Amino acid sequence: MSRPSRLSFALFLCVALLTGPAAFADSDAQPARDSKQPIDEAYTAKIQKYTTAPYFSSPLVDYLPASKNVPTPDVVLGDIAGAPGILPYAEDVYKYMRLLEKATARVKVFSIGTTEEGREMIAVAVSSESNLKNLEQNHQRLAKLADPRTIQLNDAEADKLVAESVPVYYITGTIHSTETGAPTALMELAYRLAVDDSPYIRDIRDNVITLITPVVEVDGRDREVDIYKWHLAHPKEFYPPLIYWGKYVVHDNNRDAMAVTLKLTENVLNTYVGWDAQVLHDLHESVPYLYDNTVGDGPYNAWVDPILVDEWQMIGARNVADMTKFGMPGVFTHGDFDTWSPGYLMFIAAMHNGISRLYETFGNDGADTRERTLEPDEYARTWYRANPPLPKALWSQRNNNNYEETGLLTSLHYFSDNRRMFLKNFYLKSKRSIEKPSTEGPAAYVLPSDDPRPTVQADLLRIMLKQHVEISRATSAFLVALPAKKEKKPKPGDAEEKPKPPAPTSRSFPAGSYVIRMDQPYSRVADALLDYQYWSPDDPQKTPYDDTAWTFGELFGVQITRVTDTKVLNIPMERITELPAIGGVQGEGALFAIDNHAEPALATLRYRLKSASIDAAEEPFQVADHKFNRGTFLIRSVNRSDLDAAAKSLGLRVVALSAAPNVKTHPVRAPRILYVHTWISTQSEGWWRLALDNLQIPYDYTSTQAIAKIPDLHAKYDVILFPPVGWNSSPTTIIDGLSTSWGNPLPWLNTPETPNLVGKNDSTPDMRPGLGWEGVAKLQEFVAKGGVLLTSTDTSQFALAIGLGNGVTATHSDKMKIVGAIVGTRLVDPASPIAYGYDEKVSAYCDNDPIFSVNSMLWSRRRHLAGDSTTRPTGRGTKDDPDYVVGRTTPEIPEQPEHEQWEVPIPTDEQLDNNPRVIPPADRARIVLRYADSKDLLISGLVENGGEIAQHPAVVDVPSGNGHVVLFSLNPIYRGETENTYSLVLNTLLNFDSLNAGRKNEDK
Ligand SMILES: [Zn+2]
Repeated sequence: MSRPSRLSFALFLCVALLTGPAAFADSDAQPARDSKQPIDEAYTAKIQKYTTAPYFSSPLVDYLPASKNVPTPDVVLGDIAGAPGILPYAEDVYKYMRLLEKATARVKVFSIGTTEEGREMIAVAVSSESNLKNLEQNHQRLAKLADPRTIQLNDAEADKLVAESVPVYYITGTIHSTETGAPTALMELAYRLAVDDSPYIRDIRDNVITLITPVVEVDGRDREVDIYKWHLAHPKEFYPPLIYWGKYVVHDNNRDAMAVTLKLTENVLNTYVGWDAQVLHDLHESVPYLYDNTVGDGPYNAWVDPILVDEWQMIGARNVADMTKFGMPGVFTHGDFDTWSPGYLMFIAAMHNGISRLYETFGNDGADTRERTLEPDEYARTWYRANPPLPKALWSQRNNNNYEETGLLTSLHYFSDNRRMFLKNFYLKSKRSIEKPSTEGPAAYVLPSDDPRPTVQADLLRIMLKQHVEISRATSAFLVALPAKKEKKPKPGDAEEKPKPPAPTSRSFPAGSYVIRMDQPYSRVADALLDYQYWSPDDPQKTPYDDTAWTFGELFGVQITRVTDTKVLNIPMERITELPAIGGVQGEGALFAIDNHAEPALATLRYRLKSASIDAAEEPFQVADHKFNRGTFLIRSVNRSDLDAAAKSLGLRVVALSAAPNVKTHPVRAPRILYVHTWISTQSEGWWRLALDNLQIPYDYTSTQAIAKIPDLHAKYDVILFPPVGWNSSPTTIIDGLSTSWGNPLPWLNTPETPNLVGKNDSTPDMRPGLGWEGVAKLQEFVAKGGVLLTSTDTSQFALAIGLGNGVTATHSDKMKIVGAIVGTRLVDPASPIAYGYDEKVSAYCDNDPIFSVNSMLWSRRRHLAGDSTTRPTGRGTKDDPDYVVGRTTPEIPEQPEHEQWEVPIPTDEQLDNNPRVIPPADRARIVLRYADSKDLLISGLVENGGEIAQHPAVVDVPSGNGHVVLFSLNPIYRGETENTYSLVLNTLLNFDSLNAGRKNEDK
């Protein structure tokens, strides 16, 4: 071996310099205070006082550096962050952040939008003076890394940008309002990052822009603080549960990152994308003491880049390692959260080429210091939790703040040390998203311009635009090659199957069709939302954390084609940033027709054109070339220009007719709606309210408690909507509520103590009482007099339990496992007005919904399986011969009526004989929709043992007295994602007084 030449030695030196500690390896800054910087003695003493044990803290947060000019959180809180008894309103948190901004050039506050109730949301940037001074230049560099098309996907150019750029680490707090610690932790974190001169913190300040939204659910935060103040004023009493958070949804606000229906999602998404941030780290509190669920558990979302999976592992493992070295118990990163659904707020980052992170820390739902006893599975030592939480400990909000801040500071430091790798990864993930068509496919998704449901298609596309997905429109018709379908090899025994016609090899699309190209930076989010999901019943993960499917084309009921043919990218098209206007009146005539394709906008139109006369066609009809569906709107007594304006704003296409079609019709009226909620939970109903409000359908919103007090429900209302309650609410829970014979009243009222509770929602002096038996009687009377009651899932079971819904029963199966999946359903009675506009196959969201069965008799026993009675006994002859009795002729076997699983069985003559339990034909259940056959049930997600619900009724219209009960086994309105099934509800509303249209009764 020869000695290295001088030249190679010089090269070696260069390499060593480039790869030395300053460039890539960890900095040697220790997580400890700078002994030269004075500390705030009083504040530090309180940190120690409120921390319940030394191991619940770390060298990063067990002191507060002093500053002459920068105020500590004490100026706003009147105490330190995490002090017992103190929960600031969002306004106070903002006030502090703006004081910081005034005091130091290292903090800048940005307004990022408002909530549904008009409260402000903010983002606070903390970094060095020079980083904040050069924000704009830095952002221009980050934007290029975020969209590598701007640098022609040039890696060398990217490396230059990476070397010059400062990454953005975005932290969001308290989306879940009962998880209360984050705002004070983030106030103090901002102070530390701005003030602390220790090398460890300086590293972060100089190398990272920390962006903080201290309160995500601002409306809910203010309610939570109210409740907590009420609790402090009434320390011995139970305090009211936080029944409303934001205006619409509760805990599900963290499941909105797909459909982006809530302002908080939209504001965080726009901030994340607008800053071209690298991380979105969302703070929660439901697991002791710090579960960094970044690693979580499988199955992982199948659309994320493997680079991200690697980042999750690195960051999660390092986070646990750092905090373990501090001696903090109960820090772990693997756990029971699976990373499948992209619905969580943090997943905005995973779907937009960043890094999603989530902490579950430990909180007390308020700022009381309490002794907390854990469940054995929470304190068990496991392979991934070598230093588990303690079985029992005194826990304070300060402990919570110590954990949150320590976790964040170690993460930020790790990120600062490895910023070049993470920035390069950010670029690579963006680049690989752009290269998707050629490397992994598909090339594009295409939505045809002739979709029969253009308004729903537009709603779906608007979600894509909110997700910052680029949409193009083809300027001419085009053809794409379809992937060759593999023929299934015939199995021995099914040789007789007829040869199938060859599968089409191409598909043409008309001009104006929408193309979502996959060669764009945010192709992954579009791909994930539009694709299909398959969750294997054999997956080792037996308890999916959330929904297993979300395929938007199916849930919205619009046509979407996944195109792998890369030639699609070369067709002439132009990028659009807003959707073209569609709709308006065409043709001449005084009668106006709108074809019915179950578009929710039809209901909006009915309410908007108050004085117009609108009829629904009870049969399909044709005028010239135009075929109109059943349920087509025929509109009279309306000014053409008014109709045109309304139709244009809603995107509805109206055809003027010169003569009325020869078809039976009935009026379509805008019913007066009573909308009922409980004081048990508003989670599920909130999504219904949001949908109705977006559709501008008015309703009176009231609780079960108030029903008994309304003198005559039917005089005041045409339809009562009772959306699902959730929380496994049984009929008894709905009727009884909570006992008033113990405890104290739980008020939900605006008072000087609780000024924010009610908002525009409901109020009550006591949340405990339920519907009560008087309320039950009122509902029964309402239906008997001719009202329509619409229920879904658990409220359907409630309606059945109170004797509404003759001949329908509902059961649950222990074997069946349909977890937030998309299933096939089939129209049974297309003549029912509830089915207007639907095709035979309807995709629907299903979550282990109740299994309906129908009968023509009350209290009948379960019918024997047909198989038993139709097989012949052992005897002479072949299997198909009739049985044979020696010594007499073989009698003709009388035919027994047969029926399908979803059909109401026709009673036999034997059953009809002297039987008052037989329901008269006109009073029997009318099946509108049923679940598909077992083999067709699974469309997307997890369906296991689906045979239990296959073929059973899914939507049933039961005449009751002079009215109707419309029972949904499934939940048709959910998370803004299920627009395909909205019109089953809306049709019920609009045809409330003609639900029997098209009904055929049996003779017996
Ligand atoms: Zn949470």
